[in-house]
Amino acid sequence: MGDILFRLPETPVVPVSGKAAGYPVGRIFCVGRNYAAHAAEMGNEVDREAPFYFTKSAANAVLTGSVVPYPPGTENFHYEMELAVAIGAPVFRASIEEAAAAVFGYGCALDMTRRDVQIRERQKQRPWDLGKDLENGTVLAPLTKAADWGGPSGRRIWLEVNGENRQDASLDEMIWPVKEIICHLSGFYHLRPGDLILTGTPAGVGAVHSGDRMRGGIDGLEPVELALAAAE
Ligand code: MN
Repeated sequence: MGDILFRLPETPVVPVSGKAAGYPVGRIFCVGRNYAAHAAEMGNEVDREAPFYFTKSAANAVLTGSVVPYPPGTENFHYEMELAVAIGAPVFRASIEEAAAAVFGYGCALDMTRRDVQIRERQKQRPWDLGKDLENGTVLAPLTKAADWGGPSGRRIWLEVNGENRQDASLDEMIWPVKEIICHLSGFYHLRPGDLILTGTPAGVGAVHSGDRMRGGIDGLEPVELALAAAE
């Protein structure tokens, strides 16, 4: 193969708790409306027929602890605290057992959103990309290997902004559990190592502003943090 004209931006390598080697991020799939209370606060009915998805570019993701500017093109920038699932083995049209075996690990993540743009595009029946796939728009905490965590059952998920609690729920409230999401999504993609699935956010989403600090956690996993740079 010949020379290439330029190098693409590097995609994140997420640390793995207690391990030397990091997990390189390939694709990021996000589940929409996976908690009934959040669907309600967004003015949507819960559709139990099948989960739906959008994608975010890995090159737009950053690691926990980042300080990023308030993004252009929005006046209603929202946090969404989520459980991220990291795929560790190829899986296609998975059974429940195959889905469970395909999980490498879990981590805390933020799905940052231009809410005004997302809602405007949704009302026009247009794609959500400008609302969701923004630069620095996915924030990833270190992963914990599946066997070292023990799974989502009964775990609390929460998020604080400037030390005040904004989201507080249980992963048991997810409409589509992790294994069922993998079964369903693997009917559309050959899932592979490097694929992350963000599993949706509980109720309590809201706006953040320049200078705000977010900190989110899930029982037993390493927390995720993001700060918005102070206004200039
Ligand atoms: Mn989300």
